[in-house]
Amino acid sequence: MFEDRIARARLRMEELGVDVLLLSVGADLPYFTGYTAMPLERLTMLVLPRAADATLVVPALEAPRVEERPAAFTIQPWGETEDPLSIVARLAGRPGRAAIGDRTWATFVLGLQEALPETGFVTASTVTGPLRACKDAAEVEALRAAAQVVDAIAVAMKERPFAGRTEADISRELVERILEGGHERANFAIVGSGPNAASPHHEPGERVVEVGDSVVCDFGGTMAGYCSDITRTFVVGTPSAEMTDLYQVLFGAQEAAVQAAVVGVTCEAVDAAARTVIAAAGYGDYFIHRTGHGIGLEEHEDPYLVSGNATPLAAGHAFSIEPGIYLPGRCGARIEDIVVATEAGPERLNEAPRELAIVG
Ligand code: ZN
Ligand code: ZN
Ligand code: ZN
Repeated sequence: MFEDRIARARLRMEELGVDVLLLSVGADLPYFTGYTAMPLERLTMLVLPRAADATLVVPALEAPRVEERPAAFTIQPWGETEDPLSIVARLAGRPGRAAIGDRTWATFVLGLQEALPETGFVTASTVTGPLRACKDAAEVEALRAAAQVVDAIAVAMKERPFAGRTEADISRELVERILEGGHERANFAIVGSGPNAASPHHEPGERVVEVGDSVVCDFGGTMAGYCSDITRTFVVGTPSAEMTDLYQVLFGAQEAAVQAAVVGVTCEAVDAAARTVIAAAGYGDYFIHRTGHGIGLEEHEDPYLVSGNATPLAAGHAFSIEPGIYLPGRCGARIEDIVVATEAGPERLNEAPRELAIVG
């Protein structure tokens, strides 16, 4: 599998005229090797030339962490008094163009630019983004398994009390349930209640949820390397007429965007499918973010469903569809599912009911 991914990266490097791929912290390195670099000041970097064997430059004390993968790369440990950047520069040869991992620390990027003054640098995602965006069957199954865990949490929360609890308390419960469900990590658990529901990335705080509030819960984590991400909106007691109307529009917009997510349709057309429904109902100014983002080893990755992205959807693209409507100072709602584009049409990985959930 890793050899196959590296072979596809080399094809793309050829297309783009990239001579070497340099990968450090971030998801590209595990995508190609199964190994995740420690996010520390000691450099770990895979040097993957287009036309020579790959080498992982790794601190000597971390070399035992690297499992033997002789077919994919060789290991070049460096000692405490050595300069890892000069080792990377030597292994890279004299590249005309290097693609360097998007998350690489600036210290290392600047050092490499100095060590390789003739080299032009581009971001690695120009090479790796389109490869990682197309999930194979095993990756889709990993995303599905993670989605099923958060689906079950969304269902369970409908039976839980909301009124009288702080946002932070509800957020902690979501994190605990994510971990109990088998995720190795909870990445976020946004809980925005009442007026805070109008802030899409609200930091859960000490506000106590009241009867009449809408509560946006957006949570996810990482399970077996792949991410989950779901949003459901709850209402404590009877929803207001405003919320009922707004939610009906939002529900239709989310459905329209999911149905639009057909192979060959552009990312921006999927965004427009949600936006058109919301704008037609008069809420256009209150949908203040893109419709979705790709998901995989990272919560946010290619492809982004946003105006201006003319990339056509391909089979295996996995992404969120998450329109929201936010009335500043009053209330808000969002519905988010992970969807995979397939030759047979869009397939939702999240199946938890998405109707407005009435809670106590
Ligand atoms: Zn978000
Ligand atoms: Zn989310
Ligand atoms: Zn999301």
